[in-house]
Amino acid sequence: MLIRIQKILKQKDEGSKMKVQGWIRTRRDTGSFSFLEVNDGSCLANLQVIANPELANYQQEISRLTAGCSVEVEGTLQKSPAKGQDVELVAEEVQVLGWADPETYPLQKKRHSFEFLRSMSHLRPRTNALGAVTRVRSHLSFGVHRFFQERDFVQIHTPIITTSDCEGAGEMFQVSAAGEKTPFFGRQAGLTVSGQLQAEVYAQALGQVYTFGPTFRAENSNTSRHLAEFWMIEPEMAFCDLACDIELATDMLKYLLHDVLTACSDDLALFDKFIEKGLLKKLQTVIDNDFVHIPYTNAVEELSAVSGKFEYPVQWGIDLQSEHERYLTEEIYKCPVIVTDYPASIKPFYMRLSDDEKTVAAMDILVPGIGEIVGGSQREERYDILVQRMVEAGIEPDEYEWYLDLRRYGSVPHAGFGLGFERLVQFVTGMANIREVISFPRTPGYAPC
Ligand code: ATP
Ligand code: MN
Repeated sequence: MLIRIQKILKQKDEGSKMKVQGWIRTRRDTGSFSFLEVNDGSCLANLQVIANPELANYQQEISRLTAGCSVEVEGTLQKSPAKGQDVELVAEEVQVLGWADPETYPLQKKRHSFEFLRSMSHLRPRTNALGAVTRVRSHLSFGVHRFFQERDFVQIHTPIITTSDCEGAGEMFQVSAAGEKTPFFGRQAGLTVSGQLQAEVYAQALGQVYTFGPTFRAENSNTSRHLAEFWMIEPEMAFCDLACDIELATDMLKYLLHDVLTACSDDLALFDKFIEKGLLKKLQTVIDNDFVHIPYTNAVEELSAVSGKFEYPVQWGIDLQSEHERYLTEEIYKCPVIVTDYPASIKPFYMRLSDDEKTVAAMDILVPGIGEIVGGSQREERYDILVQRMVEAGIEPDEYEWYLDLRRYGSVPHAGFGLGFERLVQFVTGMANIREVISFPRTPGYAPC
């Protein structure tokens, strides 16, 4: 087992001997010593290693170390006289594990643009920013599971290959066997665009479930908020209506923000300083204040009053565009906004038709800087209305017998939502482009490794 630098810096176990492995960030020589800044990815901070010229390989190796080299250092921790760090490691042995040619190592000390870093997805996690994103993402992911498990939700793994296109929008990647003559699965299959329909099955047996897995959309939109492969968190609850759905989504967002603010304070401080000024304050404000709730109809009225500001005209019945969503949350309310009760005509067949027969019990949560982060609804639990909505949407009810069976046998009111995990990580880190918050982004024309 490695001793991680994060732990060493926290425990400050002065006088104890230890072995540390990591990569050199910088080396500088002052007077008679060489100072090595070693980073092992466990935290933003480097461990300062002091190498003195008496070490056997000082001239041959240590004095030739440059950024990117990997080392193993054995030494004793001592109190550091320098500013900005409490402890430093006095080396007794420095072993070079791997050299990094300074002529060609691409990560120089200066700051690189994120576009440049994306051109080498294999090295970018060694940078401060991408390392911090990765740790925050990991922590949030763990927090998601903790949140649900604390509330007695059961995790289910929904299929990645599926034959039902939940959103019905033709955004599915097709799956086939190489050179197949007849469809491998006996019918057209694709990569999942949502685990919701399958989650509904389990919610109507286990009560409260969630799925958190990879999701694929072949949408040809090269935006800063869309990926072709992303991760989605989808809880589904039986005996739950739209209000209960909204409550869960709100609690979850606040829980995760609160959790990450305490656990990842160093990484978030970096984002606050270099990526989005005021980020920490923004997150705290979201935790401390109620979200605005507004029916779609009222949102459209608000937006119509300033319609001159938009590229796309606003009128009742349109699907809100990103510019509209962002205006609501960034300009009008300056906080997260939950828009409810959308027109039935722009929402999928499974959303529950309201008594006005014009709107459905849907909700989207919009946040500043991003727009939509959550999309959810109460589901249609009434057999006849569900079939009618399918027919209207041009969906063949015969194809969804399994889904309709849930309404034939012990149907219950139920609701759920989808939270785009990368959009959450974007919101928490302030990263402008969604490609920066996933390890290996996939977008139209781009999937290098
Ligand atoms: P948008 O209108 O922003 O394209 P959507 O309405 O198509 O989103 P849903 O089908 O409601 O999205 O999916 C639920 C959530 O999944 C969204 O609220 C968003 O957070 C996330 N999401 C959807 N599409 C993508 C994508 N291509 N890349 C990353 N996250 C996505
Ligand atoms: Mn949506």
